[in-house]
Amino acid sequence: MKNRKLLMIPGPIEFDPQVLAAMAEPTTSHVAPNFIEIFGQALERMRGVFLSPDGQPFILAGSGTLAMDTTAANLVEPGDAALLVVTGYFSDRFQTILERYGARVTRLEAPVGGRPALDEVEQALKRGSYKLLVTTHVDTSTGVITDIQGLAALSRKAGTLFIVDGVCSVAGEELRMMEWGVDLALTASQKAIGVPPGLALLVAGPHALQAFKSRKSPVLNYYADWNNWLPIMEAYEARKAAYFATPAVNLVNALNVSLGQILAEGMETRFTRHQKIGRACQAGLAALGLGQIPLQPEYAAHTLSAPRYPQGVDGAKLLAAANRLGVILAGGLHPACRAEYFRIGHMGACTLGDLLATVGAVEQGLAECGYTPPESGVAAVSEAFR
Ligand code: PMP
Repeated sequence: MKNRKLLMIPGPIEFDPQVLAAMAEPTTSHVAPNFIEIFGQALERMRGVFLSPDGQPFILAGSGTLAMDTTAANLVEPGDAALLVVTGYFSDRFQTILERYGARVTRLEAPVGGRPALDEVEQALKRGSYKLLVTTHVDTSTGVITDIQGLAALSRKAGTLFIVDGVCSVAGEELRMMEWGVDLALTASQKAIGVPPGLALLVAGPHALQAFKSRKSPVLNYYADWNNWLPIMEAYEARKAAYFATPAVNLVNALNVSLGQILAEGMETRFTRHQKIGRACQAGLAALGLGQIPLQPEYAAHTLSAPRYPQGVDGAKLLAAANRLGVILAGGLHPACRAEYFRIGHMGACTLGDLLATVGAVEQGLAECGYTPPESGVAAVSEAFR
């Protein structure tokens, strides 16, 4: 493993060896009794991780974009109004998907790195008659986290369905579906859930299922249609064989292992660990004198950081230097400022050691680019952790 580099991008992430070993177990039939048990258990564990005891989990072969597509396909009917709280590139993607199914989307946005204030959302909900309130919990293009608890309370008051893209948050950031009143949360396997890419994961709460069941028009996507998938998920959970489309057997096996690890850690411990790691990373970057895309410290996510390159530092050179030092980082993504910043993922199995190696590689890389940091980032990470 000497030449193996540390993958510190915001997904795919570093995976636990037990999860990877589960991927490599011999593939069974998707209706074999042992696989039915594994699938059933994974569905039950999803409820625990999403903190949604009354929700309906779905495990589909696909990526996060399919989870978004499935959500829109099943909850949007042509002409439905949706209010979209925009915090970056992935909110824009959700708009495109919602519109594809005929939604009329109203955007509420803030400057890049910001987020619309709760009272702006409240006013907008009062002005319009919306079926859906949609947002991204952590926008991976900006590193901005939204206030899901606050938005959920407004959504409940307004009687809208509250949909959360949790691709960069679920199993990392605090998210309490039932308690807060989130009607649907979705994610993908390759982020804080800690499983290689290939699964679209979502949990629909009772209001979302009710809205689906009272649709007047057909679902305009065959593969995504919950009419096809609900009986399958219900059958697996009842430990019965069922088939609509072949599940990703090895990935589901790995998912079940990872969900088991997440629940064994405990959701409260996991949320706190991510908060600690996120803040430690951001303290290290601040010590190095780097600004961040999120405009306020409280807007900064705990699952990734989005630091700005210092003046005069060639971004491509810095990322190449970090790579040579054994740490893979991601470039910028938001079209308005792509060349001005980079991204560090620190979710899932990320340890303090990984973080020290990462901030150390950035520190060393900056020195190689001719930049002298005001303070040591590594020392600040270690200090923040204590
Ligand atoms: N939403 C967010 C917040 C994401 O970070 C991503 C992926 N980076 C997606 C949606 C899309 O997921 P995927 O690439 O797995 O389709």
